[in-house]
Amino acid sequence: MKKLVVITGASSGIGESIAKRLSDEGHPLLLIARRVERLTALNLPNALCEAVDVTDKQAFSAAVAKAEAQFGAVDCLINNAGVMLLGQIDTQDSDEWQRMFDVNVMGLLHGMQTVLKDMKLRKTGTVINISSIAGRKTFANHAAYCGTKFAVHAITETVREEVADSDVRLTTISPGAVETELLSHTTSDEIKAGYDSWKQDMGGVLAADDVARAVSFAYSQPQNVCIREIALAPTRQQ
Ligand code: NDP
Repeated sequence: MKKLVVITGASSGIGESIAKRLSDEGHPLLLIARRVERLTALNLPNALCEAVDVTDKQAFSAAVAKAEAQFGAVDCLINNAGVMLLGQIDTQDSDEWQRMFDVNVMGLLHGMQTVLKDMKLRKTGTVINISSIAGRKTFANHAAYCGTKFAVHAITETVREEVADSDVRLTTISPGAVETELLSHTTSDEIKAGYDSWKQDMGGVLAADDVARAVSFAYSQPQNVCIREIALAPTRQQ
């Protein structure tokens, strides 16, 4: 059997597609999200499904320990869980900023701290962090979201340098617009409508599996090849 992969936010969208693809490739999986019933409904073989909020580091670590007891050491962590709550700086509720930083940044740090110590000791392993084109360029109404995704780039590159001597790889995947549930959590109907017409104007967006293929490509390279970053977007996206 292939080695254990941990995927956060596997209950919908990009994470769900990554789970299906890596399962097809033969990996045992630890699938993490709050909606555990959506994880179990995927019905993937050799998949431990755990209801974990990534902002809870203890729960994250406990789920990883449980999976390792069943399937052996984690070979790859895919930090995919994220929230995007768009809003204007003068009106957005600061709780929404807090939630984005807690999930998109703190959740990702929790995941890395949980697996990297052991990966460094074993001198192998891969961490793939899902950022965004919004981690490379800015968009109106995305102030805090862009802040979290620029942080993901900075954190990933910093940690990549820290662990390179241990042959552990860090990869950033930066998708453009993808059809998922991500936009649905934004509370402003006006901003949601604007985002929808932006997607229509560019003639459609990526499918979640387009991103899953990029993840699989990066992970399947030999361990001495580190794909540092992949940015992919709809061809017409600016
Ligand atoms: P979805 O909303 O479809 O999926 C988000 C996933 O994150 C869900 O599985 C959700 O599970 C999980 N999640 C959210 N909060 C938590 C939490 N506190 N603890 C654990 N899991 C959590 O969106 P996408 O698939 O689009 O998003 C996946 C990643 O891709 C995100 O990091 C997003 O920023 C990034 N991205 C998306 C783009 C897009 O256009 N869709 C473009 C660029 C990047 P649950 O609610 O069950 O906990």
